[in-house]
Amino acid sequence: MKIMSINAGSSSLKFSLFDMDKEEVLASGLFERIGIDQSNYVIKYNGTKIKQEIDLPDHSVAVSLLLEKLVELGIIRSLSEIDGVGHRIVSGGDYYKESVLITDKVIQDLIDLKDFAPLHNPAHVLGINSFKKVLPNTPMVAVFDTAFHQTMDEVSYLYPVPYSWYEDYKVRKYGAHGTSHRYIALTLQKELKRDDLRIISCHLGNGGSITAIKDGKCIDTSMGFTPLAGIMMGTRSGDIDPSIIPFVMEKEGKNASEVIDDLNKRSGFLGLSRYSSDARDIVNGVLEGKENCILAEQKFIRTVVSYIANYYVLLGGCDVLCFTAGIGENSVPFRMKIVEKLACLGFKLDIEANQAVGGFKKISADDSKSLIYVLPTNEELMIARDTLEIINR
Ligand code: AMP
Repeated sequence: MKIMSINAGSSSLKFSLFDMDKEEVLASGLFERIGIDQSNYVIKYNGTKIKQEIDLPDHSVAVSLLLEKLVELGIIRSLSEIDGVGHRIVSGGDYYKESVLITDKVIQDLIDLKDFAPLHNPAHVLGINSFKKVLPNTPMVAVFDTAFHQTMDEVSYLYPVPYSWYEDYKVRKYGAHGTSHRYIALTLQKELKRDDLRIISCHLGNGGSITAIKDGKCIDTSMGFTPLAGIMMGTRSGDIDPSIIPFVMEKEGKNASEVIDDLNKRSGFLGLSRYSSDARDIVNGVLEGKENCILAEQKFIRTVVSYIANYYVLLGGCDVLCFTAGIGENSVPFRMKIVEKLACLGFKLDIEANQAVGGFKKISADDSKSLIYVLPTNEELMIARDTLEIINR
């Protein structure tokens, strides 16, 4: 069966088409700058890559073109070969604890949840409606970034604020990157042939989150009401004292949204280093002795290590510490410096194995108290698997 996995953003549409019999990617690509100038697309298939600049006034045009190209390039013979379409959804609030078949009611819920993901949920709805137009009879499934974290108990998900904020406005921790953390948990359980693992999953990319997982279920996670909370990130601050916000508003004559924008877009690596949001640049800056990069690197490591230590205690130990996403999968020095700081908890790297970049690999030393793995995340495959499973029910 062939399943399409879709991630629709406000001006972009990312896709992967899977042959689910072998869980193989038949084609993948990105439609970018939808609704603005210089819109273009890239499609990769069969070792070939095509790229074209073309007018994409809206998501429907992008979706029609994508499907047209899949047939034209011989990737599928006809649109009826697509058995289902899975959509990545950033926020399912506390309505959705797992993936669901998309109905009109689900679409309305996504619209109602827009306050929790103002940039993302409306874009997902655009993506869904565009596919509905071209493939009206093909089942579609919504896969939520928040769903995996719905197993947190209220001690984890409630903030110590007036309870009415939760009752009246649903102010609570929702978390993010849930599809990635779920993929990590399932893959480790399968590879290590154990369901009862205590896992600390470190998704360290441009956005980053750390999740404590026990018996395959999320116990706690570092992102919060929004993806601004938790560890320091590429351009996001992570946890800060909220009193800073009105203080800076007054000092700089900004409104709350403008300060939140600073915390989302001009903080993290970028804010502290005043150099770059990209971890590779920070690593290079450190090698060149740039003091601001050294500071940014140390702060990032400190926040990551604090969350790992916190979850180590919460889980009563750790069977597997796992690194994933851009930094987690690729950065040898970041993994090394993080694990060095965890020596007092018995974590120890195999320095040679840690040179690994890409691929699933054990990187802990034989005398490490916990196993340490690198595991490339695969949210697209997780979305396709859920879609297949739900349409086959
Ligand atoms: P992601 O959001 O998962 O695509 O990850 C993006 C982040 O991964 C950026 O900060 C990149 O600098 C970082 N990254 C990718 N490759 C490397 C690498 N080889 N070393 C350090 N960071 C990397």
